[in-house]
Amino acid sequence: MAAAGQNLSIDPDRLWDSLMEMAKIGPGVAGGNNRQTLTDADSEGRHLFQKWCEAAGMTMGVDAIGNMFATRPGTDPDALPVYVGSHLDTQPTGGKYDGVLGVLGGLELIRTLNDLNIKTKHPICVTNWTNEEGTRFAPAMLASGVFAGVHTQDWAEDKRDAEGKRFGDELDRIGWRGTEEVGARKMHAMFELHIEQGPILEAEGKDIGVVTHGQGLSWTQVTIHGKDSHTGSTPMPMRKNAGLAMARILEKVEEIALSHAPHAVGAAGHIDVYPNSRNVIPGKVVFTVDFRSPTLSVIEDMETRLRSEGQAIADAMDMQIEFEKVGGFDPVTFDEGCVTAVRSAAERLGYSHMDIISGAGHDACWINRVAPTAMIMCPCVDGLSHNEAEEITKDWAKAGADVLLHAVIETAGVVA
Ligand SMILES: [Zn+2]
Repeated sequence: MAAAGQNLSIDPDRLWDSLMEMAKIGPGVAGGNNRQTLTDADSEGRHLFQKWCEAAGMTMGVDAIGNMFATRPGTDPDALPVYVGSHLDTQPTGGKYDGVLGVLGGLELIRTLNDLNIKTKHPICVTNWTNEEGTRFAPAMLASGVFAGVHTQDWAEDKRDAEGKRFGDELDRIGWRGTEEVGARKMHAMFELHIEQGPILEAEGKDIGVVTHGQGLSWTQVTIHGKDSHTGSTPMPMRKNAGLAMARILEKVEEIALSHAPHAVGAAGHIDVYPNSRNVIPGKVVFTVDFRSPTLSVIEDMETRLRSEGQAIADAMDMQIEFEKVGGFDPVTFDEGCVTAVRSAAERLGYSHMDIISGAGHDACWINRVAPTAMIMCPCVDGLSHNEAEEITKDWAKAGADVLLHAVIETAGVVA
């Protein structure tokens, strides 16, 4: 019997060849990919994935929102499957690895088990979640969100792209609406391998990020009412400069986030100034403060302080201020057992690793609501992602897929 020992490894060349083969579908203009969800290229990528899965002896199931589930049977007919996977869709100017590594790393894991004739108690199911990217049809992680009961299927299917095309119609058009009820599958566990999309692992010289949490976020829209007046003829003491009030509040935003270092972050990325004219003092500003942290109480504290300190600044300047919460996403704490399986796999295999918090959203963040879930991250060059220049090394891909293999077979149980 082949044990889950140190020598058990995926085939890095085969994994790499599959990544490069998939990248030929929906090529970008600068060496990356444009394989947006529910396009003809998406359909072609799905067909290739299905062909590979069937060649590896798996059975493909597709649900009514296009999520693909390729299953390798286990020895226990009553055991729930261990899921692995991510997404094959890309940004319009996306890379070759974001999402794809998690799906094809899952496929490589199955090919490796087949080569070594290793049987597992639990089935293993490799998944491609529909529309993770959310560029063509917002929001991101749409179909995994429906699967996890966060969104209704009708709501998702009514989403429209920039040309007014409906998600549900496009799913039918490319022929990937399956018959399974969305979310009906039950999972023993789920593991998602993904590139980091940030600079930490490379800077720290680590092969593996053991993802313990996903950042939560809170968006508060702030409106300040001052008074438009001439920038030349209004004396300084008589001004109600809403832009200045915003500047003072943004200093506070920085201070508030830094007071929860190192994990909390805060900034205003969206700012509208009215009337936005060179010689008019801003009479109104509207901006959105984005706070993020892996801890819910920290997010709540940052929101509360923004409101009280923002109100104090506006009062002192004799201006009206309004706060409106316009978006939010609670932090995710991944399953302790699954996280431990990832960390001990990295340890056993001798890969350098560190615990890390995912700054971006992933399908695993939704699936964590319905099944024990964890994520494995591998570095990417300069932390660059959502960019055609996104790059990883074959060694990083191997490390990530090896840790995935070991975490999964430990969870699925090797049968002698
Ligand atoms: Zn992704």
